[in-house]
Amino acid sequence: MPDLRDSHRNLVDLPKDERLARRRHSAAHVLAEAMVELMPEAELGIGPPIESGFYYDFRLPRALTNDDLKWLDERMRRSVKGRHRFEMSELTRAEAEARYAKQPFKLEMLAEIEDGNITQCTHAAFSDLCRGGHVGHTGELGAFKLMSIAGAYWRGSEKNPMLQRVYGALFESKDELAAHEQQLEDARRRDHRKIGRDLKLFDLVDDVGPGHVMWLPAGATIRRELERWIEDLEIDHGYQHVITPVVAKRELYVRSGHWDHYQEAMYPVMERDGEEYVLRPMNCPHHILIYESEQHSYREMPLRIAELGNMHRWEKSGQVSGMSRVRIMTLNDAHIFCAGTDQVAQEVEGVLRLMEEAYGVLGLKDYTYRLSLGDRDDKEKYVDNPPMWEAGEALLRKVLQDVGLDFLEATGEAAFYGPKIDVQFKTASGKEETLVTVQVDFHLPAQFKLEYIAEDGGRAQPIIVHRGVISTMERMVALLIEEYEGNFPLWLCPTQAVVIPIADRHIPYAQEVAAKLKGHRLRVEVDARGERMNAKIRDAQLRKVPYMLVVGDREAENQAAAVRVRGGGDLGALPVAEIVEKLRSERDQRLLVP
Ligand SMILES: [Zn+2]
Ligand SMILES: [Zn+2]
Repeated sequence: MPDLRDSHRNLVDLPKDERLARRRHSAAHVLAEAMVELMPEAELGIGPPIESGFYYDFRLPRALTNDDLKWLDERMRRSVKGRHRFEMSELTRAEAEARYAKQPFKLEMLAEIEDGNITQCTHAAFSDLCRGGHVGHTGELGAFKLMSIAGAYWRGSEKNPMLQRVYGALFESKDELAAHEQQLEDARRRDHRKIGRDLKLFDLVDDVGPGHVMWLPAGATIRRELERWIEDLEIDHGYQHVITPVVAKRELYVRSGHWDHYQEAMYPVMERDGEEYVLRPMNCPHHILIYESEQHSYREMPLRIAELGNMHRWEKSGQVSGMSRVRIMTLNDAHIFCAGTDQVAQEVEGVLRLMEEAYGVLGLKDYTYRLSLGDRDDKEKYVDNPPMWEAGEALLRKVLQDVGLDFLEATGEAAFYGPKIDVQFKTASGKEETLVTVQVDFHLPAQFKLEYIAEDGGRAQPIIVHRGVISTMERMVALLIEEYEGNFPLWLCPTQAVVIPIADRHIPYAQEVAAKLKGHRLRVEVDARGERMNAKIRDAQLRKVPYMLVVGDREAENQAAAVRVRGGGDLGALPVAEIVEKLRSERDQRLLVP
């Protein structure tokens, strides 16, 4: 039985979360009221509270404009001034069907109410089907602002009609609302999709398909530097890099269990000559086959097999976004085949240290480790083997403590077959995402009946540690774009220096300077366009090139260049040999700040 007096409670007595939810929910009613006034034919969908405010979905006779948004916002403020009470009332099914006869989405929802408790909320002259959870009156909404219009399928399904969604932000105070707007503004400025376009790093082309990234020369340069660096770093840490095909027979993924658990996320099967092939969604089975291809003894373990592995996952089209959610990706992947749990502990520790080293080089600080645990009560989702879970979780917890890393624990976030450590990052828009995981796996070795010759001469089953370090190239480059706002450290910069001749007669000397830098594999360009020097400097700044080398008569005479630094510094004239040394050292040490 819903509480018909729900809005009559004293707002200040409620916890902040509940208060905010009520304000946001109530604001959605007021938005719908305004919309019905703007367009009486509006068909109302749903309007729930969300993390930063609220939205409402409508089917409308025409597309909304920004002017409409302004009008609606002002109309809502009129309703606020009216201090209209939110009143709940009960309806019989017949009453409700009559009342909402012109509202097909409401009728659909009505048909799904099985318990017979049909209630609506009325404020001013507007009513909406609702289960309650309001503030007392429209004067208590808080600080709000209508933010944007987007398309959304009714109930999130592509089979349903496309509706127009109006988003509003709502907080308790004007300061909180302003802080939220500032955060959105920062996120827009840092958005990897925007910077990726501005700096011509990557492209997404309709003919190629959503989630299929085209790396342009500048973006491909960044990726190539990252790949060379991480491969070398892993080789230093005892990994063996392999290269395996992106295709396998479907049978392999049946054996691994992915076909049963993961089919939805795979591209469809390809058939040729009576065989079925799939694009791989994961690299594990290929690496397992490499392990299987030879007999192994405890002496050669742990065996660390790594690959920049290309994978294909059929992400739902609504979830594909920029480079952070794609369908074809290259993962900095590895599988470590361990003899016994002591070795697993050692290897997980090694992986964590490698991560710390790599993130240090990249200058990433805003991440946390999460120990993702199983849930003993959830026997549907997780393998029912409590001792295995206890042992695995204790092992990972101890390693995290031994390495001295801060971490959170989260129940119900594990893989179905075992616990894992997740590295959690915040994206520019403030969303928390898992960048990579370290997983201890007893399941696939059993599935594939893997073995090695143990110290006592008998046969034993290895344990696999699955791990990434810098995630997929797509996700990592997206993250770095947002982290640096496009101001990459020198070693990753697509263009590391631009030589700017002051007048046309300085072009030959500019080319001479560029050739000296190129001789040391520095990526340098000469800006020989007929623009003024200041315009060329501004362009280089916009392209976020770290060094601008301006050359005129005096510089040519002294085998020098006047060095400007991205962001505004001016180092004055330096001999070219010194500039080469400076840039080389900055690049080779992978320094973060020029
Ligand atoms: Zn309501
Ligand atoms: Zn794996």
